[in-house]
Amino acid sequence: MTLPASITPALLEKLTGMVVSTSGRTVPVVEVYTGESFVELPQSSPEDVVTAYAEARKSQAAWASWSLKRRIEVMKRFHELLLQRSLVVTDLMQAETGKARRMSFEETCDVVMTTSHYIKAAPRILKDRRHGGVVPLVSSSTEVRVPKGVVGLISPWNFPFATSLSDAMPALIAGNGIVLKPDNKSTLNVAYGVTLLHEAGLPPGLVQIVCGEGPDIGPTIVENADYVMFTGSTATGRVIGSLAGQNLIGCTLELGGKNPLIVLEDADLDEAIPGAIMAAFLNAGQACMHIERIYVPESRREEFTRRFVQAAQEIELGATYDFGPAMGSLVSVAQRERVESHVDDAIAKGATVLTGGKARPDLGPAFFEPTVLTDVTPDMIHATTETFGPVTTIYGYTSVDDAVARANDTDYGLNASVWGKDLGRAEAVGRRVEAGNININDGLACSYASKKSTSGGLKTSGVGSRHGDAGMLKYTDVQNVAVLKKQVLSNGEGTDWTKQVEKTVKGLRFMRKLGIR
Ligand code: NAD
Repeated sequence: MTLPASITPALLEKLTGMVVSTSGRTVPVVEVYTGESFVELPQSSPEDVVTAYAEARKSQAAWASWSLKRRIEVMKRFHELLLQRSLVVTDLMQAETGKARRMSFEETCDVVMTTSHYIKAAPRILKDRRHGGVVPLVSSSTEVRVPKGVVGLISPWNFPFATSLSDAMPALIAGNGIVLKPDNKSTLNVAYGVTLLHEAGLPPGLVQIVCGEGPDIGPTIVENADYVMFTGSTATGRVIGSLAGQNLIGCTLELGGKNPLIVLEDADLDEAIPGAIMAAFLNAGQACMHIERIYVPESRREEFTRRFVQAAQEIELGATYDFGPAMGSLVSVAQRERVESHVDDAIAKGATVLTGGKARPDLGPAFFEPTVLTDVTPDMIHATTETFGPVTTIYGYTSVDDAVARANDTDYGLNASVWGKDLGRAEAVGRRVEAGNININDGLACSYASKKSTSGGLKTSGVGSRHGDAGMLKYTDVQNVAVLKKQVLSNGEGTDWTKQVEKTVKGLRFMRKLGIR
């Protein structure tokens, strides 16, 4: 066991103590690099989830009554605290998920950037919007944004800190409480982030942490929520979405992908090769937006393949808590077995392994090599199903229409990447791909890190979105407050309806000309 010095028994006791749990049940948390358990994580029962909501609701009423400025002050302090302690988050995240340190640190930056964005944007997004009312001059109507209440937030293990804290940020600033359910494998780094919120002045109780297997406590989380923010697989998203529908609450579902990258004829391979390597193997391929399908024009296929394979072979893997290795471990032995099974299936059905394709038990129990395949055919699992590991396939194409058609030949629509020197042309090709995020001359980070723009999945990759104005407004209800300053609306008694119709028709025509309605 080689845990970093920041992960002390006292810290672990504090973090595990934050889970709302009276069940007496625990599960071991494993240091991924060694496979050894280092702490027991309490599990919540459905009754504990109900308690968590009750506590969050108590705090939420007070929090919502604070001025927006005062809530933003808390988030400014949190922003600074996170910058100061990001390496503790990084330590915890590495221990729990096996990520490379570079990736873990960058993940903390996502929360910093999202916080910074909403600190600045919230006053504009949440301000009252006053409109002219039904009768010009004497009436008005104002859209008032009020918090939903308590949001159920369910996050996955692959980007646990960002999908918990970044998605919590706009909800909290808008005045909501949160019941947060991270994955059992990745709760401690998230809990540490919540301690920083407390240190910054967030009222205790406003964010509650519950833990457990999804099917055990998921229904209770959704049934008690005023809104659900879910990130995870498409299969689970369908379950959450239907539960939310039954309870008549809104939800955002950020789901899986099978993302294509298209190299155009004029692409600069000096840029496209490292870009595609990053896009395919970042976070050991366990990123919803990472690239599992690469389309290259036949004329450049040989050169691209040779250089891409060489670059994949040069990726340094390692199980260390320093910034050395570019790639870390997969999250668990089960995940490694899933990835291995997709590769084995492809090999058995005739795929060619250009590099990788093997586990690396010499590095740790869940390591798997960066793997590049070709000759992948539609009957192979990896061709259509999200492998969610460091495995990508190179396909040749004959025309751009062919490349776009094949990029779109999937139920998913999360991310697409297009590389070409002619930016106008590359963007035109990108816009033809059915995906919620289109990155030109970048793999995925460019769109994801643009916090002003709303981002989400098309097709089975999601419902709703995060970031941008919509990423905050979704956590609010709107009240339409209409005011009539003078009683000019007739109740109809004694009205000459022939004249009234004429007057109304004229009035409506006039209003259209004025652009009123
Ligand atoms: P998962 O769906 O198995 O689990 C995600 C979370 O949901 C976990 O906390 C899990 O405990 C919980 N859960 C599982 N079943 C549940 C249920 N019935 N009710 C309530 N909660 C339940 O997904 P995963 O394997 O942890 O994560 C990987 C998936 O997440 C991949 O498909 C990936 O593409 C996707 N993902 C999407 C985005 C995005 O922004 N679109 C980001 C990260 C990950």
